[in-house]
Amino acid sequence: LFDRLEAQPADSLIALIALAEADPRPTKIDVGVGVYRDSDGNTPILRAVKKAERILEQVQTTKSYIGSQGDARFTQLIGEIVFGPNHDPNIVGLQTPGGCGALRIGADLIARAGGDIRIFVGQPTWPNHAPLIGTAGVPMVDYRYYDRATHRIDFDAMMESLKGARRGDVVLLHGCCHNPTGADLDADQWRAIADLVAARGLIPFVDLAYQGLGNGLEPDAAGTRLVVQAAEQALVAQSCDKNFGIYRERTGNLFIKASSPAQAEVAFGNLIGLARTMWSMPPDHGAAVARIVLEDPDLRADWHAELTDMCARIRRIRARLAAADPRLAYIGGEHGMFSMLPLTPDQVIGLRASHGIYMAPSGRFNVVGLSDDSVDRFAAAVLEAMDG
Ligand code: PLP
Repeated sequence: LFDRLEAQPADSLIALIALAEADPRPTKIDVGVGVYRDSDGNTPILRAVKKAERILEQVQTTKSYIGSQGDARFTQLIGEIVFGPNHDPNIVGLQTPGGCGALRIGADLIARAGGDIRIFVGQPTWPNHAPLIGTAGVPMVDYRYYDRATHRIDFDAMMESLKGARRGDVVLLHGCCHNPTGADLDADQWRAIADLVAARGLIPFVDLAYQGLGNGLEPDAAGTRLVVQAAEQALVAQSCDKNFGIYRERTGNLFIKASSPAQAEVAFGNLIGLARTMWSMPPDHGAAVARIVLEDPDLRADWHAELTDMCARIRRIRARLAAADPRLAYIGGEHGMFSMLPLTPDQVIGLRASHGIYMAPSGRFNVVGLSDDSVDRFAAAVLEAMDG
């Protein structure tokens, strides 16, 4: 059996983290890592999360099974943050192991529905999208999203591709904080996509993994709400792993919007069945903690304050990079933790050797991998590499 398996290439980002850790230079800079870091270089446990964990330890009386839907109250509270308090009653959701679980079960639901459906996926996108969606067996069609030369969304090309979508085709969209580019659709562009989705009967599948880390919780949900409202049917893969800083707790939701209550019930039943075949039930801890935070006004306010601080740090570092040189100015207008630098893989390797700067070969870097002290040094090294 196992002798018939082929060796797999190592995950390049995980290999990069190990390389950065092994580098003895005190001046090294790790901007390859995919998590939030504070100005001391730590990925802290949020105060509100710590307090909620202490409460959970006191009030939890059983570790018995929770069911395939997960923590329904948690899903309801997150649904209100994503879609607003009085959202469409045909939106239903279930808890998933992180945003990855939500993307995977969403793709499986689409595959199960059958019917020659294709998923349109922007390029570039988060490298895990294709494996997660492809494993479900739904054919993917690429659309052009970002032009590296101009650092702008190639919106005309995107719309042109989407006009080739058939009724019932699915369009994968990043709700905010686009990974890897940081280039988010503006309000007019979201409106144009919402109009197209409505006119052509397309199904948006929004990946909302960073709500609150771009412009704040409400503004970061605006595009998602617009397209979900415009569409008759939609899916949203949501993650709490970044905005609660609970990455390893694997906490997220898949929401779907159906055309009617009866259809929502059937779709939900199918999701429960799919969950049974993959993880049976999602892990409880992260969802229970997030629920406690959201149900307690003081903890909720503190979470919000910490999220606002994280968001402000991201924006501050972006502004400093943008001010360093006109060639980096575009970074100031982008959102979330990631942006792409106009570097070749060789230039990226050169930066590693000469300056101990670690980033993905694509030139994607995590802006909060930088501390207040390392921003100027990083900008100077990147500009030097661009000139060389
Ligand atoms: N979607 C995007 C765009 C991401 O960047 C990530 C994680 O990096 C995810 C989804 C998955 O998030 P999670 O860690 O909650 O599975």
